[in-house]
Amino acid sequence: MKILRTPRELREAVREARLRGESIGLVPTMGALHAGHVSLVQAAKRDRCWCIVTIFVNPTQFGPNEDFSRYPRDEAGDLARCDAAGADAVFLPEVADMYPPGSATVVSVRGLTDHLCGPARPGHFDGVATIVSKLFSLAQPDRAYFGEKDAQQLAVIRRFARDLDFPIEIVGCPTVREADGLAMSSRNRYLTPEARQRALTLSRALHAAEARFAAGEREVATLAAEIARILAEGRPTKIDYASIVDAETLQPVAGRIERRALVAVAVWFERTRLIDNVTLVP
Ligand code: AMP
Repeated sequence: MKILRTPRELREAVREARLRGESIGLVPTMGALHAGHVSLVQAAKRDRCWCIVTIFVNPTQFGPNEDFSRYPRDEAGDLARCDAAGADAVFLPEVADMYPPGSATVVSVRGLTDHLCGPARPGHFDGVATIVSKLFSLAQPDRAYFGEKDAQQLAVIRRFARDLDFPIEIVGCPTVREADGLAMSSRNRYLTPEARQRALTLSRALHAAEARFAAGEREVATLAAEIARILAEGRPTKIDYASIVDAETLQPVAGRIERRALVAVAVWFERTRLIDNVTLVP
């Protein structure tokens, strides 16, 4: 497995892989890797890609009061996990290489960021779209792999990739969960055992909504009330949102669910913000 530290080394490794006739698969991450990230590498390998994992805690996607400085970092563990998963290369750039002095360009996706995490995290999706478009330009992958766990992020990436004509297939991969249902996240390690137990209400609430929907319930108000009831049982510190939005536009659904919808929640337990979602398909 190649370890690449600079954009120049990345470009060179990609050039060599292309000369060998490889397809390039890109897996962007912020490190602190877990089985969710590993599933993206495995998806790239199933597609017979030469798989590059990028590990970069991107400062521009964190707000001033967010967890950038305390975000978990574990380079040795991450490299071992990438190797075991079958990654072909890992790209670990420095902030100064990704954002040299004078960087002034931002990729901003309108509309899709009006709801859900957009209002709670101003500037977050601009940071995501900007760094991912830079990684696309550097690695020029054939395919890029992202988790459905970050459903709004996936929608934003699909949209800018299309709008900016990146010739890249964006592959969404299912959310990987712990045995008890908790969606895997690098931020789960912030949770005390007690908060982690309370956090199971996220997946339980979403699962209950799915079950009611499968049994024929289509009223947003009824499903939302069920979700709110279960989330309250976890005594959350704060609920940023528990929303049912159109899966394409990410605009709130009013009344009945007639088209694919995303049920998404963002909930705080002490200083930790967790997100999760499920898709309902009529
Ligand atoms: P992150 O390191 O949190 O920025 O995530 C990097 C990539 O891994 C993103 O595409 C995430 O959506 C994806 N990811 C994170 N957690 C999971 C999970 N539990 N299941 C599947 N993909 C995930």
